Amino acid sequence: MNTTILGYPRIGARRELKFATEDYWAGRADADALNRTGAELRADVWTSLRDAGLNAIPSNSFSFYDHMLDTSVLVDAVPERYRKLSGLDRYFAMARGVQDVPPLEMTKWLDTNYHYIVPEVGPGTRFRLADGSAAKPLAEFREARALGIETRPVLVGPLTYLLLAKAEEGAPKEFRPLDLLDGLVNVYSELLERLAGAGAKWVQLDEPVLVADRSEEEIAALKRAYARLGRLTSRPRLMVATYFGTIGADALRVLAASRVEAVGLDFVAGPENVDVLASVGGLPRKTLVAGVVDGRNVWRTDRRRAMATCASLLGLVDQLVVSTSCSLMHVPIDLDAETALEPGVKERLAFARQKVGEVVALGRALREDVPLPDDAMASPAAVNQEVRERLEALNDAGRGDRGSRFEAQQEALGLPVLATTTIGSFPQTSEIRRARADRRAGRISEDAYTQVMKDEIARVIALQEDLGLDVLVHGEPERNDMVQYFAEQFDGYAATQHGWVQSYGSRYVRPPILHGDVARPRPMTVEWTTYAQSLTRKPVKGMLTGPVTMLAWSFVRDDQPLGDTSRQVALALRDEIADLEAAGIRVVQVDEPALRELLPLRDADRPAYLDWAVGAFRLATSGAADTTQVHTHMCYSEFGEIIGAIGALDADVTSVEAARSRMELVADLRAAGYANGIGPGVYDIHSPRVPAAEEIEENLRRALLAVEPDRLWVNPDCGLKTRAYPETEASLRNLVAAARRVRAEL
Ligand code: GLN
Ligand code: ZN
Repeated sequence: MNTTILGYPRIGARRELKFATEDYWAGRADADALNRTGAELRADVWTSLRDAGLNAIPSNSFSFYDHMLDTSVLVDAVPERYRKLSGLDRYFAMARGVQDVPPLEMTKWLDTNYHYIVPEVGPGTRFRLADGSAAKPLAEFREARALGIETRPVLVGPLTYLLLAKAEEGAPKEFRPLDLLDGLVNVYSELLERLAGAGAKWVQLDEPVLVADRSEEEIAALKRAYARLGRLTSRPRLMVATYFGTIGADALRVLAASRVEAVGLDFVAGPENVDVLASVGGLPRKTLVAGVVDGRNVWRTDRRRAMATCASLLGLVDQLVVSTSCSLMHVPIDLDAETALEPGVKERLAFARQKVGEVVALGRALREDVPLPDDAMASPAAVNQEVRERLEALNDAGRGDRGSRFEAQQEALGLPVLATTTIGSFPQTSEIRRARADRRAGRISEDAYTQVMKDEIARVIALQEDLGLDVLVHGEPERNDMVQYFAEQFDGYAATQHGWVQSYGSRYVRPPILHGDVARPRPMTVEWTTYAQSLTRKPVKGMLTGPVTMLAWSFVRDDQPLGDTSRQVALALRDEIADLEAAGIRVVQVDEPALRELLPLRDADRPAYLDWAVGAFRLATSGAADTTQVHTHMCYSEFGEIIGAIGALDADVTSVEAARSRMELVADLRAAGYANGIGPGVYDIHSPRVPAAEEIEENLRRALLAVEPDRLWVNPDCGLKTRAYPETEASLRNLVAAARRVRAEL
């Protein structure tokens, strides 16, 4: 082994996996067809990796939905409610639910935008190797071998599996999934023995949790698990892979002392791994799998720098393998498929296939001690001097104090207590989607497109008037995606044609690429918003995507600190808000659903992140007049760790996902000193269910225990774009009725 990667995209260059799974779900194709597509995609990946000259090839990084879910099935961690189903139907029921049986929870994979299916375990969970000799890692290993390709099966490590699992409902309070470690390690032992029997020389165990803060107890568990696996008499060689940051010295010491043959470290997200490695005395009898090619971002590798890193590591380890920093599943598949990238940008990029080439070239240069071919110098990121100078010179006086802002807005807007609103988007009908697609393909004129959007906006405004909402929205029909919409209009951003990355299951996203200084050549939302405002006397909220979310859901430049990039985005948004105000818009909302997502994995790194993240939001919003009401919205989160930061944003109104936590968030926010307006989502928009007015009233009464009526807002959990009109209308009608009834009680 001299070159490898930690994993490869599973979705297929033409999104074959998406179409095959969706056909299966819709009953358009049977299990055989789906399995055939799976086998083709795997064969394709293995052969292309071999042909690229990679000499250690991973397997079992394929999945029909998610690799954590695969692991749950592998070790038979299947909650009782799914057991009446079997095979693929059971598997997909766990992922997506079926009538009357909700799915397992889904959450973000460490600090990425990939979502995994959260294992649910309890004291009664008995792990076993569910499919015996037909277990997926074994089957895929044999499948590759039948093609003449030796592979290294990739498994989620036992520690990571349990630390990312949750206790089932009703489990005793003191129960921790990690309590189940010994039973799980038994199953891994059996699996490793079987893999050895099948001829596997190496196995990769992914333990990314080792780059976050770990307790002594967890480090002891790590030691116990790998001591046991290391002692197996018949097993493949073990490679423990970490990624997304710097491994803790305590964890690395445990691995160094174990019988594990190889350790993978990420030198892109965790350049400090060099120091940690040195501090523990290196890995003198082990192989280091050095992640020097970025698996999370789309930039070409600076090969000289990567070589220098490798060279500095050679003395610390017995053997060095060149690798990617993490699985390549987080980047698009093939840059060659892109034909429309602006000149100057494309030559700075590398997608999965190109990154494999980089690994191979680095490995060759290292092995043969030949100099690297001279890279043609790619042009540097475009500089926008005006943006830089404006940021430099910006003298931000900030807004008035919250009390005087509140008074000013009361007077300007005249809203009732328990004011009602929505989060921004209304259902995206097929007509809207078609119009957007037709416009992109040049099938309809710009005017015809604008008319369809305006008609939709007029409909949505009329509906909201009829429903009796207090602060209206234009409904966002013109937006395909809340990040892409703005990225397409900013300078310094590029969109790809085929750059799909799996977000969860069959949902893939095409993150835009932020490649140069960001600027706003012209207003982006003013026309739509003012059109909506012209149709009503009620205030219409202008809708913007915040700087942190713009970065979190894009590929970002790595040649300057993220905080600097965030300020450029913030400045553009600040200008947009000024234009909206000048056009008569009195309420703006700057969405930051991803504020929690970028939170660093280690506590020590969090203050610095929150500092720039909050700073960017404030830079974007603090030019607004005191009479302008600034809203923000957040979702997808346990907010606990950022609750202080939410207050620091100092928005006039914050709407948050709260329906599922029964409004507890309101009290938490107040306890953390947040005194501005709060709109706890009073019903869950992630399901088509229509909440009864009584249920919403109850939520409001509960919220009122912690917040004054003039600070409480009434709104759904999140945007409505994934819903259909009938349930949306019914739900909002109940929402308004509930607000009115509770108002009357005050
Ligand atoms: N304004 C956006 C919408 O309503 C917010 C989306 C989000 O929070 N993810 O769709
Ligand atoms: Zn939301």
